[in-house]
Amino acid sequence: MKLCELTATELAKMLKSKEISATELVESVLQQIKEKEPDVGGYITVTEGIARKQAKAVDEKRARGDRLGALAGIPVAVKDNICTKGIKTTAASRILENFVPPYNATVIERLLASDAIIIGKTNLDEFAMGSSCENSALQRTRNPHDLSRVAGGSSGGSAAAVAANEAILALGSDTGGSVRLPAAFCGVVGLRPSYGMVSRYGLIALASSLDQIGPIAKTAEDAKLLFDVIAGEDPKDMTTISKQQPAAQRDIKSLTVGLHKEQFDWKIDSEIAKSVDAVIKNLEKHGATIKTVSVPHMECLLPLYYIMLTVECASNLARLDGVRYGYRAPDAGDVEKLYCQSRGAAFGDDVKRRVILGTFLSSAEFGGAYRKKALCLKRKIEEGYQRVFAECDLLISPMSVTPAFGVGDVVEPLKMYETDMCAFGATFAGVPAMSVPCGFTDSKLPIGVQLTGPRCSDRSLLSVAALCQHLFL
Ligand code: GLN
Repeated sequence: MKLCELTATELAKMLKSKEISATELVESVLQQIKEKEPDVGGYITVTEGIARKQAKAVDEKRARGDRLGALAGIPVAVKDNICTKGIKTTAASRILENFVPPYNATVIERLLASDAIIIGKTNLDEFAMGSSCENSALQRTRNPHDLSRVAGGSSGGSAAAVAANEAILALGSDTGGSVRLPAAFCGVVGLRPSYGMVSRYGLIALASSLDQIGPIAKTAEDAKLLFDVIAGEDPKDMTTISKQQPAAQRDIKSLTVGLHKEQFDWKIDSEIAKSVDAVIKNLEKHGATIKTVSVPHMECLLPLYYIMLTVECASNLARLDGVRYGYRAPDAGDVEKLYCQSRGAAFGDDVKRRVILGTFLSSAEFGGAYRKKALCLKRKIEEGYQRVFAECDLLISPMSVTPAFGVGDVVEPLKMYETDMCAFGATFAGVPAMSVPCGFTDSKLPIGVQLTGPRCSDRSLLSVAALCQHLFL
């Protein structure tokens, strides 16, 4: 077995006992990247030189007997909308194609402090808008399980890299499912943390009231390892919270699992429904109590998401004007033309569509009516989840309505928007939710089951997932 095929937990032990060196591990991952990348296309940038240098430094530290962090020597891939000092950060957009940030995102500082190795920057849908990774202006990422299929999005590069053993761990960002959906499509674990659990300082913002950075890994145990490094309050992000609950010790018998009724009512692919059903039966067999529960207003999720998202992204992307960052149209003449020509030339179609819609919805003419109503509805959804978590420890539902679809198969924007239906609820409730692999379709495509926990129960949720994961497959 190649080193790059092992889990972060296994590798951390081997590194600690000096059975292997960080340099050997990095070389194994770089070799895998060399072999797989021409097909998979998960990376926009591979930071070969930096990774080798970091690995050497970790090995030297270990040889000297210095204290090392929890991820010492573990190669981590980073979604290319997370700022890395001195390393190009493109958000997969032409407008930032040559942008080199002068600072690190807080999650990067934490990775470095834990002696992790940055192996590269991964592909995404432009500015994290999309569900398939086809919407990147720079390249396409394909599903390592079937190269004719999409990897999912928007963190498709990160999920594909982990699934293809081109990285041991990865970071993604999840606004309305962008960690969880690609994790499900690629057969890996992906967590969207509770809102405020992980700092977004240095994340190129999509919708600030919804964005979260989350770990992608081969197992729930590995995801927890990465989560523990990146989570925590950050003075640079005022939305972070200090509330860090320790993982509750549980066994399956003491669990009350809620079946999220509305999410089972959607038109779910029959093979996915069957797999999720098998997970539920298995949990029941091992003593968990299963209860069907209901969260109201689920029929509003899609319009609610696209009102919240477009209003916020129109505002966030206003800073990309050809003046301060990124692409600048040549010879524009006056400042208005400079804005129009720079943005017109360098934003992709879906970005423009959303900016136009968000600008329309937040225009003075409506006096903020759309956004105010959306915020009321968001609150109601939050309350709905709170009520449900008063009677159960976690919610279970399918992670996606279909398995990974074919490259080029979904072209209509609305159809693409619908692929994330199962993900939006947790986004609005601000609660942690994760995709855990639970089998394959007949044509060998991975299936994910979604586990959702109460607010700030991230560590317990990860522990429960680690406890049950073997029952799911
Ligand atoms: N697919 C959703 C969208 O296009 C989710 C994106 C995300 O979570 N970043 O907005």
